[in-house]
Amino acid sequence: MNGWLAVVGLGPGDETLTTPEVSTTLASATDVVGYDRYVSRVPDRSGLVRHPSDNRVELERARLALKLAAQGRRVVVVSSGDPGVFAMASAVFEALEYGPAEWLSLDIRVQPGISAMLAAAARLGAPLGHDFCAINLSDNLKPWALIEQRLRLAAQAGFAMALYNPRSASREQQFAQALSILREVCGHATLVSFARDVSKPAERLVTVRLEQATPEMADMRTLVIVGSAQTRRVGDYVYTPRAVA
Ligand code: SAH
Repeated sequence: MNGWLAVVGLGPGDETLTTPEVSTTLASATDVVGYDRYVSRVPDRSGLVRHPSDNRVELERARLALKLAAQGRRVVVVSSGDPGVFAMASAVFEALEYGPAEWLSLDIRVQPGISAMLAAAARLGAPLGHDFCAINLSDNLKPWALIEQRLRLAAQAGFAMALYNPRSASREQQFAQALSILREVCGHATLVSFARDVSKPAERLVTVRLEQATPEMADMRTLVIVGSAQTRRVGDYVYTPRAVA
């Protein structure tokens, strides 16, 4: 039996936003590996072995997936959104780089998904229609000072920004600090959107000016989009024009 490993993105939540390519791959897998919340989104099927794990053990999880594929299993590693955006694809390649040389001959594919920033932007209108960047606000894997520097420079450069992992119970202060940096650099009138549980039943979208934004508007189920100086409203929509005058 020839094993393989697919690293896939399930999309933001609603099953219609999982690509047909990913659904086909899931239907032919023997094993699913990932964070337990994402593994439980995979439709049930007899014979499918689930390997749910805690959120923080990415490398361990990646090594397990590679080991199973090397044994001839058809393994899918699941992420939410896109697997290459603050998710498992990098962890798999890191495990590959430091793992046994025979893993290099494995059949490994990455299959894209709709990332939270794209799903959130589509719900809002087109806030990412001009140049933008994505920043992960979690300091689990990088120092907070670096995050502050990137926020400041991105704001100075006039990018719109998609902010992932904005605020957790163990990191409450940091998002307040991020908002104050943004107010200082972008000014108080910049639009900021909080998109929570996008494409899920509890979806909630709120757009305010930076001066009205408070840390409590975000949590780990929220994607924050900070507009550029050009980002504006038309009716109920938020958009950034294609051109900067
Ligand atoms: N790989 C994922 C991101 C994983 S990081 C992707 O491409 O979307 C997890 C963060 O993504 C969350 O803290 C939140 O900021 C964002 N996120 C994921 N799903 C979301 C959803 N349905 N609604 C809003 N934000 C979401």
